[in-house]
Amino acid sequence: MLIRFVLVFLFCTRVATGAVEPLTDAEALWLQQHRDSLRVGIAEVPPQQAYLNAQGQLEGLAIEYLDAVEHALGIKFERVLLSSYGEMMGQARARKIDLVYAASRTPGREQFLSFTSPYNYVSNNIFVRKGDEQNNNLTYFSDKSFAVTSGTAVAEYVSENYPSIKLVPAHSSREAFNLLAAGQVDGVGATAASAYKHVFEAGLPNITLVGPLGYDYAISLGARNDWPVLTRILQKGLDSLPPAQVEAIEQRWNRPADKARVDLERIKDSLTWLLTAVALVIAAGLFWWNRSLKREIRQRCEAESQLSFLAYHDATTGLLNRPGFLQALDKAHKTQQPYALVLLGLDQFRIKNELWGQHIGNELLRHLAQRLAAFLPAHMTVARLGGDEFAVLFPVADLPQDGMLNQLVREVRRPMVLADRSVQVVSATCGVVVIERPLERAELALQQVEVALKHAKGNQRGGFLRYDVSMGQNDIQDQLWKEQLALAIEHDQLFLEYQPQLDLHKHKVVGFEALVRWQHPERGRVAPCDFIPLAERTGLISALGDWVLKTACYQAARWRNQGLDFEYVAVNVSVRQFADADFARKVMAVLAETGLPASALELEITETLFMGEDEDVRNTLDELSAQGIRFSIDDFGTGFSSLLYLKQLPVETLKLAQEFVLDLADNSSSLQIVNAATRLGHSLGMRVIAEGVEGEDVEHILQGLNCDMVQGFLYSRPVNPSQVSAEWLQELGWRCEAMAQQAEYVASTE
Ligand code: C2E
Ligand code: MG
Ligand code: MG
Repeated sequence: MLIRFVLVFLFCTRVATGAVEPLTDAEALWLQQHRDSLRVGIAEVPPQQAYLNAQGQLEGLAIEYLDAVEHALGIKFERVLLSSYGEMMGQARARKIDLVYAASRTPGREQFLSFTSPYNYVSNNIFVRKGDEQNNNLTYFSDKSFAVTSGTAVAEYVSENYPSIKLVPAHSSREAFNLLAAGQVDGVGATAASAYKHVFEAGLPNITLVGPLGYDYAISLGARNDWPVLTRILQKGLDSLPPAQVEAIEQRWNRPADKARVDLERIKDSLTWLLTAVALVIAAGLFWWNRSLKREIRQRCEAESQLSFLAYHDATTGLLNRPGFLQALDKAHKTQQPYALVLLGLDQFRIKNELWGQHIGNELLRHLAQRLAAFLPAHMTVARLGGDEFAVLFPVADLPQDGMLNQLVREVRRPMVLADRSVQVVSATCGVVVIERPLERAELALQQVEVALKHAKGNQRGGFLRYDVSMGQNDIQDQLWKEQLALAIEHDQLFLEYQPQLDLHKHKVVGFEALVRWQHPERGRVAPCDFIPLAERTGLISALGDWVLKTACYQAARWRNQGLDFEYVAVNVSVRQFADADFARKVMAVLAETGLPASALELEITETLFMGEDEDVRNTLDELSAQGIRFSIDDFGTGFSSLLYLKQLPVETLKLAQEFVLDLADNSSSLQIVNAATRLGHSLGMRVIAEGVEGEDVEHILQGLNCDMVQGFLYSRPVNPSQVSAEWLQELGWRCEAMAQQAEYVASTE
């Protein structure tokens, strides 16, 4: 009892000046009961976070935080030094240690750890060999090898989000850089500080930093998640650290200051040597030596400050990057005052960037950065968080009103004249969040404004939307759905239905469109419009698309073997599948495996595929077309196809978007669009198919417009393959013929 009182007293005296909650009686008691048995896992993460110094003692930023928290709580954890970060995580998972000293929160780790709020942010970058600078984004590493330290959050991030990258787990970042220098991997993901340590100091001259990796560490203390009380205690320990102490730790470590120390030691060593040698060498030699030493120091300082700048700034615009912004956000959070965040997302910038070329896109981003900086008061923090997103932090005195937000959106939309004299216009959509009361973690504010932006983009581009709590639900859903969809592929919850496509001239079924369905064990049937976009966003589309292609080809081959009379099966292919360099080979392998002839497969692609003028896409199309596979452009009219492209492409069929077909009989502009698109298709030598034919009046109009083929509920809904038989096909053909005759009769009597 007495010891518990002493613990609480000790802690309270430390937090007496701040607004930090003291330990509750229960927490103090728990801490007292466990104080002699808590084991913290530590793995060396040089040069900043933790390393063994020449005296064999641990030092580093994370170690200082650990010391400070121990001191604040009046406890000393048993330190278990592990040989690698991967081993540390393994021990935490096996509950052989109770907490880890430095770790980012990831879904994988949350299975066995829970985390305090982050105490430090560090950005990750991509490193390549000189000459490979074009590989400045993870998307370029598809099918290439990429080394990261095993067990780290960045390893989990890359394997989760870029499954096509060949991830090479390294024991340490030193090993990763050695592999890169030796040409055994194509890239490395690491922090700038560790690169400094391994690349510059180890003298690997052929390595360079090319850009941010897209995932940054937000470093927290992590404790075993079956002891939530321990995380609460650690959080209170962290919260109780006086700002001056935190500032001192940051000052000491947040720049790669160990380099400066290394330099100082060198200077000291060199000067000692110089003093002994001064009696022996002439003054000129001394002068020359001193000068070259200074030059080396200067070069090292420059490299150091450049790396430090890169770690917190965006290389394209010079604005703060995500980690830099998170630090500013953290400061705003700690003031406990209200603040606001605005997140600007440029509309369709990715597509425009591909059309204009990256150099124009980058110049535009730089212009925009200058424009924002000029428009907003100087004390506001402006950052580019990556891609097409800019963020602004508004302090309590300047919380943004609607009028100001409208002006901001207008300011972005003003045309800009670029160096090549072209005039470009981009519009932006904004998410806005005002944080009235402190959140649990500063990062939550960023998550909320990201959600607001997503909703704003969904509602109406070119405007702004303020966050409200009901919006967050969807994102949590998104994560749940993603995990469940991955399981659905493994657990056979997906199946295909087939919808017939009929030829209006021959009056018969010529093909089937394969449409994927998901039978969820609890939620019942989920519509593809609800899970295909999710699969595209998360990369699951690759596995899902492979499964659809193979299943549809097997089914079509089976029908052909049964003697059914039809020409092809049509399979929807999303842009992300097509972007896979291996796609053509995969398709040919499926045909070989299933025995379906290439001429019996049609791939439905969308117009967005041609927006990037991408040579690889063009090559894949040509390669597959040369093998005899046909292509149709799905939902024609809803994207934006350049007529020029259409002319050059090996596409046989234009598939009119059902938006125009559904109301064809009642909407004169739909009629005009369908009429024009049908003529366009015919003039380019293509067949035209209308999908979404629900009524006989629509069929009659399509006959009159000389449309070649139809698909829709009027003939058949998508059906289970077991329903397809020779009799069924024949009946559909007859119905189609009867309707055509009726249409002719109506036309002749009008
Ligand atoms: P889509 O490729 O344009 O497919 C046609 C959609 O229109 C299908 O919806 C079909 O059931 C529906 N439909 C057909 N006739 C009519 C009609 O007369 N009236 C109405 N109101 N609708 C009709 P579904 O099956 O919900 O698929 C929606 C979208 O999901 C598809 O549009 C396609 O973009 C995507 N999708 C479906 N299966 C796959 C797949 O295997 N891979 C990929 N990448 N996307 C798929
Ligand atoms: Mg389709
Ligand atoms: Mg369609």
